[in-house]
Amino acid sequence: MISAHPVFRFAPSPNGYLHLGHAYSALLNFDLARQADGRLLLRIEDIDVTRCRPEYEQAIYDDLAWLGIAWETPVRRQSDHLDVYIAACDRLAAMGVLYPSFESRAEIARLVAAEEAKGSWPRDPDGAPIYPGAGKSLSATEVTALKRSGAPMALRLDMAEAIRRVGALFWQERGTGPDGETGAVAAHPEVWGDVILARKEVPTSYHLSVVIDDALQGVTDVVRGQDLFWSTSVHRLLQELLGLPVPAYRHHGLLRDETGAKLAKSLASTSLRELRAEGATPVDIRRLVGLPSHP
Ligand code: GLU
Repeated sequence: MISAHPVFRFAPSPNGYLHLGHAYSALLNFDLARQADGRLLLRIEDIDVTRCRPEYEQAIYDDLAWLGIAWETPVRRQSDHLDVYIAACDRLAAMGVLYPSFESRAEIARLVAAEEAKGSWPRDPDGAPIYPGAGKSLSATEVTALKRSGAPMALRLDMAEAIRRVGALFWQERGTGPDGETGAVAAHPEVWGDVILARKEVPTSYHLSVVIDDALQGVTDVVRGQDLFWSTSVHRLLQELLGLPVPAYRHHGLLRDETGAKLAKSLASTSLRELRAEGATPVDIRRLVGLPSHP
């Protein structure tokens, strides 16, 4: 039976303390779920083992509870499900849309600098240069030798081949993109180049785990910051390749105060625990992020 109740999620990474920007996103998800008689899930996106810490995860639970947000348990923690992401990578590899690459970050920087010296080199929507390397043309013998050599390895999506397989894609945008995009938005995954889907030391990536988890958790409404707007192009492509359902998206803009003015950067990045220590109440936080005092 198809559930009529929409499913929202808040998906923070425990690599620091939550600040006002996170509070806005979490409260907006909570309010929208309430208004739609829906469910709110919390997901801990902790695949980056070098930056995530248990004390930050505990602080997420404390801060959200203090804000008056209720979520369903058990909470899904991505690091507990690496086997699921590895299986998805195996499927993509079997489809012929993944290839291994072995350049270090320093080598990639050198290749980009060489291209830029000749003219220009394209950058992705986050400002990072797209992959300049030759991983795609390595022979099977070279791949075996490089794997044995202990060189860093990343599995990359063969973007051209993936797009060729699935054709034009769209998503339903209920919020807005950085240039006001809304409604049926055309995906442009090609602007990201051959993105990394897994690394030797972490067998997944943000893009891969987010689409798998949204599907496995039955998420119907993805509400998140506008900084992730164009990542949705990659997410649509992966959903199509893996045969996953497609949620609706609502990307929200920068924080405004109650007069509609943009919040000062220093205030927007102050942690919730600091604000709480200074005597702020949950209602103050709602006012600061421009949300009504009750959902
Ligand atoms: N974990 C991501 C972050 O903290 C958010 C992922 C998402 O909402 O899709 O920025």
